This record gives sequence, structure tokens and C-alpha cells, in this order.
Amino acid sequence: MTEPTTTTDFIRQIIAEDLASGKHDRIVTRFPPEPNGYLHIGHAKSICLNFEVAREHPGHTFLRFDDTNPGKERREYAEAIKDDVRWLGFDWGERLTHASDYFERLYEAAVTLIRNGDAYVDSLSADEIRSLRGTLTEAGQDSPHRDRRVEENLDLFARMRAGEFEDGAHVLRAKIDMASPNINLRDPALYRIRKQTHPRTGDSWSIYPMYDFAHTLSDAFEGITHSLCTLEFEDHRPLYEWFLDKLQPDHRPRQIEFARLSLAYTITSKRKLTELIEQDIVTGWDDPRLLTIAGMRRRGYPAAAIRELCSRVGITKKNALIELGVLENCVREVLGPVAPRVMGVLKPLKVVLTNYPEDQVEMMTAQNHPADPSMGTRELPFSREIYIEQTDFLEDAPRKFFRLKPGGEVRLRYAYIIRCEDVIKDDQGNVVELHCTYDPETRSGGPQSDRKVKGTIHWVSAAHAMPATVQLYDRLFRNARPGAGGDYHDDLNPESLEVIDNAMVEPGLADLGADDRVQFERIGYFALDQGQPGVFNRIVTLRDSWKKIEQQQLADS
Ligand code: ATP
Ligand code: MG
Repeated sequence: MTEPTTTTDFIRQIIAEDLASGKHDRIVTRFPPEPNGYLHIGHAKSICLNFEVAREHPGHTFLRFDDTNPGKERREYAEAIKDDVRWLGFDWGERLTHASDYFERLYEAAVTLIRNGDAYVDSLSADEIRSLRGTLTEAGQDSPHRDRRVEENLDLFARMRAGEFEDGAHVLRAKIDMASPNINLRDPALYRIRKQTHPRTGDSWSIYPMYDFAHTLSDAFEGITHSLCTLEFEDHRPLYEWFLDKLQPDHRPRQIEFARLSLAYTITSKRKLTELIEQDIVTGWDDPRLLTIAGMRRRGYPAAAIRELCSRVGITKKNALIELGVLENCVREVLGPVAPRVMGVLKPLKVVLTNYPEDQVEMMTAQNHPADPSMGTRELPFSREIYIEQTDFLEDAPRKFFRLKPGGEVRLRYAYIIRCEDVIKDDQGNVVELHCTYDPETRSGGPQSDRKVKGTIHWVSAAHAMPATVQLYDRLFRNARPGAGGDYHDDLNPESLEVIDNAMVEPGLADLGADDRVQFERIGYFALDQGQPGVFNRIVTLRDSWKKIEQQQLADS
């Protein structure tokens, strides 16, 4: 697999020091998704970091499902996450785990906290607990249940587990400090009652652990050495440390935070992605306009391009909005050297070569990659009737228009120079056909092929071309920060998808495989949509048409 540009960063430096000093002799990391949606480009950054740092040293990485929230989690999501991580190029081997694997151990750890006077059952309602929590500037207040006796706490907690109480009747809270300046330390909840069926443990539990508690201990149980997470967890680190102090003094994973990946014109919040799907704004988690891993894969992005983006963006402590063009350039750079060139006409205009023999078919030799002769050549049928791109003809063309115009000449790639003799129109005055003549002396590769004309255009033979549907994707949002003005719906790009159902492509494309990617010369990179023959997704254009707008929007905001 193509390795991304390697770089170092502050996390890799810490890891190298920990190995050099003998603090660790192996590196153990984890990627801990919650199976409540599909993975997106932001997750890719975390996946690449966790798997790559472990691969750069003796070490390994766990794929751990943080499945502590049964109401929102589904098996479908867990399966999709595994597919996506694998597709990105990473392998967890035997190390697929779930927070739910540890439910019993987590319960015991909670009991230990209760026994040691470090946790208590609170019977206030969620609203009451919130109202006593205080604010950033004001200390919280103790719950009246904070000083419950250990026996009473143990009894209540056991009965919470046994399902004796309704949701919300009690919570188990850590007993830390209601006056702490860090709100995360104001007696955070450890367990809550949720009478919900869990995708893996079914109805065996009526209580579920909270994220911070489950996550810290799962890290410790798995011998994670470096627990790498995004910056919003920085304020949770003291709680992470508190759990380790109380419960796992011997094995201490180190939590290190890094900046999230945020891309312009993109939404990655799972809540908003779910909305886009439910409101039929996109067709599903794998809609090719979404920067979900499934969407990018379906669109035709190579995994190597996503890894390259993550590497290019790097690991820092500073949140920044990355131009979408950076990702698209990674896609172009990965596909450029390897994607075979082909010809496809998106909006066909028929051209009749009036001086070309009626029944003649010639085979024209085309290079599969002009810069890489080792990719070989193919034969393209050429005949009296061909299609060219509508946009390659202009009736009232400016002087600098070097494609086809009345009386003008252009070269057909790998074929002949033609001259436009006649423009055929329908009743409304639309151009429907061109009558041209070809110059038989100008066959590409032939003796007189150096007669020069300024323009070269692509074409397909009408009788041989394969009809195709082409899905042209563009940005889903036209504002670099969707929703910055309030509602992201206002920023939707009404032209994010154009479906062309009468394109014509060269006949060899009938054999394209589901994982193949090609460049339609002069147009962009394309792949089959979910392997359907004749249905093409535009992966990316050849050039970035948004660059100026994007830079302006980012500068303005
Ligand atoms: P979302 O905000 O999209 O709902 P999440 O963070 O709740 O995502 P999780 O499944 O909990 O989703 O994330 C799993 C891991 O991926 C976490 O360790 C999280 O830090 C990391 N992650 C999520 N989003 C990003 C991002 N934009 N950049 C880098 N890492 C991310
Ligand atoms: Mg999360």
C-alpha cells in the first residue's frame, strides 16, 4: 500500500522518548469509536495516528467499540466501522474489543470505589443534579445524598443493577469535589439506569457506565500505553487520572490530546449526518457527497489519499479549518500517476464526417497514460459519426477559442484533424449536429501528423460508444463553515449533484471493475458507482474550481 509522507509530531516524539527511556518497550494504542453512526474523515485522522504510531514501533492497536449507550448504538454501525477501518488499510488482528466486554469488571471497579468511600448513589433527578452543579465561575453544591453510608450505597447500587428502579431514579457518582474549578470533577456520574436492550449484552444490564469511567478503565485493562484523543478531552484528563489513581495505580496509560480534523464545506457531526439522511438531503451514510469513509469510498477516493491527507495535516494542538482542496489534491496526486486515461463525452454533440467512407471503421491507438508508456496502449474504433462534447463547439466563438467553431479546425485526440463545415439546428435554433470534414493526411502517429492546430478534443465513435450515466458531485455546502450563520440547511449547495443520463464513453469501459478508477481525459477522475456497469461517479475534477472562492471565504470568516 502507498505509504503516506512520513513526518514527526509531538505525540511521536513523546512515544520515541518513552521507548528510549525504557518506560515502555511496546506501544499500545486504541481507536475507540462509538457504534452510533458511520466513520468520517475526522475519525480517519485518529485511526491513522493510532494504527501508524503502533506500526512504527514494536506495538499494536486495539479497535474498541465504546458501546456504553445502547439506545443509539447498532450492529450495522459496528460492522460498517470495521469495514471502513480495514478499507483504510489497518488491521487490528485479534484485538477487537468492546467496552461491554468489561461490564462485569467495570461494575466491580465501581463497587471498589463505593467501598473506599469514593462513590455514592445519588437519588436526585437529572435536573436537580444539574442545578447543583454550579457554573464555570460558581462552585457546585453537595447533593443531600453525598454522605450516604457505604452499606446503603452498595445495597442501592446492587438493586440498580438488578433492575429494581426506573430510569433516572438514581445515579452512581464519583465523590470528588463539588467545588473543583474543573466541572468534570464535580462528582461526575459513573453509572446510570437505562432499561434498554444492548446490541451485545441484551437485557442483562439495567445500568450502563458513563463514557469517562468506561473509557479510562478499558484503556487500563488493555494495557494501552498512549491514549490519544482530541482536544475537547483535555478537561477530562484530571478525571482520567483520578480513576487511574483510585483503581489502577500500576498501569497508567497516558492521555495525550491533539487537534481534531475539520474540513471546510463539510459536516462531520454524527447527529447532523443522521439529520441529513433522515431529511433525505443525502441518500445515506455512503452518499458520495459526504466525507464519511463509506461516502468517500463509494465516490472513488483511494484510501491512500485519505491517509495522505491525514499525514499532510499532521498532529498538532491547534484546531484549524483545512481547505477541502487539500483533500482533493491528495486524491488527484494519488490517482494522477496510476489512473488509466480514457475518453468519455458527458454531453454529446453528434459530428458527421461527411467525407469519411460510410462503412469504414479504423482502430486508433491510444496511450493508456501519456506519462507512463509502461501502462500500454489500447485500440479505439473510429468511424464516420462521432460524438464530441457540446462545450467543445461554439458558434460565436471568441478569437482565443481553440476548440471547434464554424470553419475552424481541431484535432480529435489520437485521430484526425477535422474542419467544421456546417452547423445543423433544430426549430428552436439549438445546435443538434455538426457536419465536418476530416483530413486523411493527419492521422495521429502517421507521416503528416505534425500539421498543427491549436486545440485537441476528445470524442467517441457513435456506433461503438457505450451509453453511460454520470453522476457529477460537487460540494454539499457552498459555505466553508456550514451553519456559521445559524442553520446549515441555508448553506446547502443546490447543485451538489448533477446526473447526466445520456453520456457516451469509449467501449472498453464496459469491462471496468468495481475498484478501477480512470481519468476521463480533460474532465476528471471517475469510478463505477458501487460497481454498476455504465454508472460513473465523478471522483474529482482535474482542477480545483473552488480554490479562489474557498480562500476568500476562509479569509473573510
Ligand atoms: P462525532 O463528533 O462525529 O459524533 P465522536 O467523537 O462522538 O464523533 P466517536 O465514535 O466517539 O465519535 O469517536 C471515536 C474517536 O475518533 C474518538 O477518539 C475521537 O476523538 C476521534 N475523532 C472523532 N472526530 C474526530 C475528528 N474530527 N478529528 C480527529 N479525531 C476525531
Ligand atoms: Mg464520542
